[in-house]
Order: sequence, then structure tokens, then C-alpha cells
Amino acid sequence: MNTEILDCTEKSLKKAAELLKKGEVVGFPTETVYGLAANAFDEKAVRKIFAAKGRPADNPLIVHISGVEMISDIASNVPDILYSLSERFWPGPLTVIMPKSEKIPSVTSGGLDTVGIRFPSHPAAKRLIELCGFPLAAPSANLSGSPSPTNARRVFEDMSGRIPAIIDGGESSVGVESTVIIPENGGVRILRPGGVTAEMLSEVCKVTVDGGVLEKLESGAVARSPGMKYRHYAPKADVRIIRGSLEKYREYVLKNAESGDFCLVFSEQEAVPEIPFICYGDDPAVQAHALFEALRVLDEKGAKRVFARCPEASGIGLAVYNRILRAAGFNVTDLEC
Ligand code: AMP
Ligand code: MG
Repeated sequence: MNTEILDCTEKSLKKAAELLKKGEVVGFPTETVYGLAANAFDEKAVRKIFAAKGRPADNPLIVHISGVEMISDIASNVPDILYSLSERFWPGPLTVIMPKSEKIPSVTSGGLDTVGIRFPSHPAAKRLIELCGFPLAAPSANLSGSPSPTNARRVFEDMSGRIPAIIDGGESSVGVESTVIIPENGGVRILRPGGVTAEMLSEVCKVTVDGGVLEKLESGAVARSPGMKYRHYAPKADVRIIRGSLEKYREYVLKNAESGDFCLVFSEQEAVPEIPFICYGDDPAVQAHALFEALRVLDEKGAKRVFARCPEASGIGLAVYNRILRAAGFNVTDLEC
């Protein structure tokens, strides 16, 4: 199959919508990361997403809408809190889990009786959904297990020959996937941190951060969110998070580095003499924007091991830490102990 790159003009978006109406899968931009879309109501089309990504069948897809009125077809019961959340955070990087309607096939929800719903703010995503007239089920547009793509070139790298078209809408502005929450006891529980932070949500309601956000699931334990149990965002390199001051980090790297090792640091000034490095920014929002691309560049450079500086886990930094923890398979060396 030839994979065509489309721009964001109305003509191209109509072409993409036609493919989606025929039950095809299309790569598209959102403000979080690029997605791989199919008609959320069409079981056969949704199966093609799982096949293109090599995604485990029990890992549910988020359903994307272009207006709150679309929810009545997707959810069987809308939690009251949805209205204050949607007013404040939609369109934007927030996914809300609710009981699914009969119209959502169980393949879309990974066999669960709930569904995650999001209204993305990227104008091309919104227009594409409007042109389709149905919601789009869409996971991140990477091969299962690799870092999520934040531009069309990276989608092409993973999906070339697997899907008919990719819409190029530039760099994703947020750079990490949406915040996933489930309403509970009048508040919300964060199952995956993202661009809408715990601090922002707590201006609207009580917020609990699920233990699975920062801790490895015990073997045999049931994940509140199926994505928690899979190794994610993993480059080929063996990533290790090194927690501690810059001085201790440098000492550690100098003592342990071998040929093929790289540093993943916040800024150029932190580089360790003689050791190749990639920077991912010293501000949490920049780190979120840059992390997945940095992980892909490390692979391109043939990094064998990566010593990563540990990000600050607050605000959007919680999402950065959550992703890098998974990229590292929870391998953290604490130099402060
Ligand atoms: P992705 O689309 O690749 O960003 O992954 C979406 C993630 O959202 C999944 O891996 C789940 O962890 C989470 N998710 C989606 N729908 C649900 C749901 N109904 N219940 C719990 N978690 C969900
Ligand atoms: Mg994903």
C-alpha cells in the first residue's frame, strides 16, 4: 500500500474524510501527539488500527469528537462532572472515561464497558471529525511500544505501507498524550498524566493520582487503565534514569559510561565531557514537547545505553516523568539516597 502525505487544506481533509468513510485508517495531527484514526462505530475499520500498530486487543482506543453533543451517541451515561470539565478544558488534552453506549463496538473499548472520550483542539483534527460526521477512534500513531510520534515524518517512519494517508499538521504542540481521568466520588482520578495537569484539574474538583502513574504494576494486579501494564515509549536503547544533583549525575556518568552510551540532559551546559548527548529542555513544557523526538533521535544515533537526568515531577512534568519512567522500564538510580 502506498502511503500518501496530505496537507491541511480543506480539499485534503475531505480526501482523508472520504477514506475514513470507506472504513480506512488515516494518520492525523492532534495537539498531544499524532493519532491513527478510524470510524469509532465501525468494528472492521477499528480492527485495522490494531493491525497497523500491532496493538494488544485489550488496550482501548480513545474516541475523538468535534463537539460535546456527539457524546450522547458514544456514552450511555454522562457523569455530571463532565460539564464543568468540558467547559474548562475542552477542546484540549483531556480524556474522560465514562460508560460506553451500545453503538461503540467492544473492539474500540478493548473489551471494557467504558470508553475514553476527548475533544482535540488541533484545527485539522476538529475539521476532519466534522467532515466525517462520526467520532474517530484513535490511539497514538506509532508502532506499539515505540515512542509516540509528534510530527508526520515520524508517523511515516512507523506506518509507511500500512495505511493509505497521513495528514501533516506540523509539530504537535503539547508532545505527550492526553491526561486520562475517570470520575469518582464527585472528583476525578488521574490514570495517565498529560497536558491538563493535576493542579489545573484541582481548580475544578477533587483530584487523586492513581498509584499506577508512578509505580510499576505488581505482576498479576489489574490495571485501572490497560495502557499501564504495557512497556511504552521505549526506544531500542537501554534507558536509565539518574536522580540527583548535576554534580552527582556527572560523577556517576564519568564512572560508568562505556562506548555507545549517551546522556539525555536538560541543556547543553549539563553535558559530560567526551560523552555524546541529547538535550530535552530545562522547562517541563519544553521537555514534554521534546521527549519523544529525543528518544527517537537516540535510536537513530545508535545509542546503546542512555543516562537520563530525572525531570521534576510536578505540573506537566508529572507526564514527562511518567513517560520517561516507562521508556526506562522503571529503571531509576537514586544518587540522593
Ligand atoms: P493511546 O491511545 O495509545 O494514547 O492509549 C490510550 C490509553 O488510554 C490506553 O492505553 C488506556 O490506558 C487509556 N484508556 C483508554 N480508554 C480507557 C478506558 N475505557 N478505561 C481505562 N483506560 C482507558
Ligand atoms: Mg500510545
